[in-house]
Amino acid sequence: MNAASTTVTLSATCRNCSAPTNGALFCPSCGKIQPLPRGADYFSFLGLPQKLTLDLDTLEQRFHSLSWKLHPDHFVRATEEEKQLSLDLSSQLNDAYRTLRDPVARVEYLLSLSGMRKEGQKKQQAPPELLEEVFELNESLDELREARDSGGSPEQMQGLRAKLESAQHKFESSLADVDQELAGVGKDWDAAIDSAADEAAGKKLMERMNEVLNRRSYIRNLVNGVRQELAVT
Ligand SMILES: [Zn+2]
Repeated sequence: MNAASTTVTLSATCRNCSAPTNGALFCPSCGKIQPLPRGADYFSFLGLPQKLTLDLDTLEQRFHSLSWKLHPDHFVRATEEEKQLSLDLSSQLNDAYRTLRDPVARVEYLLSLSGMRKEGQKKQQAPPELLEEVFELNESLDELREARDSGGSPEQMQGLRAKLESAQHKFESSLADVDQELAGVGKDWDAAIDSAADEAAGKKLMERMNEVLNRRSYIRNLVNGVRQELAVT
């Protein structure tokens, strides 16, 4: 959605009649389709503020309304350039909707807008509060693989699987906790937007969100790893 991904020239006046468009997708004067204005992002595309608590019904309504306006049926008699523009915008609209609909992708996107999304360099390191459980999990995984390779008895396999399943549940509940934490920071972010907090406060919140996202990604990898291992036998 940045300027680089838009192949047409961006301008704040209508490409057809030169009237000011104020960033509208369709010229208020002649109704012709316009490229996204410079600096547009998924939030502004869907007419939303850069906040993290979204009303999903509103999001869906805006998406459907724009999808309908950009539908190829409306461009049958349009120029090739307009047809292409409507296709490009449709595809960007789909990306925007898919991203904003997902609470985690939404935060990642918000952080990426200001270059604040940084995958942790210590990403492979367990969060301190989970160190012990991660250690135990890796042991159980090793044991299961060894037992599998050496043809362990059904009882042994069953015992190891039960241990892994219980670890999986534990990490799934950690994941749910992290999601709640992320939603909590998101609320703080929205409050900061509403109160027009200064840049430093915003940056601090973004750093917190980034840290929670890294922790989330670590735990999600654990959960997926266990799931895959359990699916083998
Ligand atoms: Zn116009």
